[in-house]
Amino acid sequence: MAVVFITGVSGQDGGYLAEQLLAGGDEVHGLVREQDRPAPGAQGPRLDDAHLHVTDLTDFAGLSALIKDVAPDEIYNLAGMSSVARSWVEPVATGEVTGLAVAAVLQAAWELSESSGRVVRVVQAASAEIFGNPATSPQDESTVIAPVTPYGGAKAYAHHMVGVYRGRGLHAVSAILYNHESPRRPPTFVTRKITRTAALIARGEADELALGNLDARRDWGWAPDYVDAMVRAARHSKAQDYVIATGVSHSVSEFVAAAFGRAGIDDWERYVRVDPAFVRPVDAFELVGDSTRARTELGWAPTRSFADIVAAMVDTDLSA
Ligand code: GDP
Repeated sequence: MAVVFITGVSGQDGGYLAEQLLAGGDEVHGLVREQDRPAPGAQGPRLDDAHLHVTDLTDFAGLSALIKDVAPDEIYNLAGMSSVARSWVEPVATGEVTGLAVAAVLQAAWELSESSGRVVRVVQAASAEIFGNPATSPQDESTVIAPVTPYGGAKAYAHHMVGVYRGRGLHAVSAILYNHESPRRPPTFVTRKITRTAALIARGEADELALGNLDARRDWGWAPDYVDAMVRAARHSKAQDYVIATGVSHSVSEFVAAAFGRAGIDDWERYVRVDPAFVRPVDAFELVGDSTRARTELGWAPTRSFADIVAAMVDTDLSA
């Protein structure tokens, strides 16, 4: 049984991770912001058996003290500003939460490993956004890091700091996660926005879907698979970086077509309008990852296809 500390436990990935670890018998501690604390009996991940600690990630001193107090064997840093679009509006806050806080987590983990003499394992949830508009496709762990968004810049700093602390001797892993979705994805992300609106249109409760760039191509995977990859990476004998991706990309319009088809609507073009408000100042054309290292060294593989992911999300929204 491991003592595990998760930042961002109230998010999509944090919920799945806490559920997986609790089911395996681990002691789970989660960091939540006051406004994200789940109401008793609320729908969503089953966190009843987790120990929740209310702190803001930018309270670096409080965060360090909490990590010392909990003294975890494993730390999963999943918290952060998760919206690329939002990072253009709040670049400084994005840097604090998504970037600088990671230095506080790594330093606290390092001090804990020094004072306890134990191995403290840290997994940082990095993002394909660190590659910006990559010159090579698919990307792997050796692809040049060249972000093009404030979110990507903050994640790149965090990714480099993981390497810095690994060089110092900490068991630190950067999991370079490509887009990963589920019915728990908030509608600020394009996939859930599409599946939710498709369900509303199918029920006659909406008549339009306003989107930004329909040609962007992303490598969409199943969120619980990505959480499982992080656990495998944490518990592997050697700490290193891993690209976690399916290796297959689809365009936003292909996602729309699949989602509307699942909802029983074949003429999706009738309903979709491009709204400049959702077009980003800079947006990677295509992000697609090569996860050979994770597949060979961690025995990891995605369990759900693109069609299965779309179906699970649309079906949830149709029954909501
Ligand atoms: P991200 O990759 O973490 O930013 O995940 P998103 O789901 O927010 O965006 C994925 C892709 O969908 C990006 O290339 C966006 O530019 C594109 N996209 C197109 N229309 C929209 C939209 O209306 N909302 C969002 N969030 N993304 C959109």
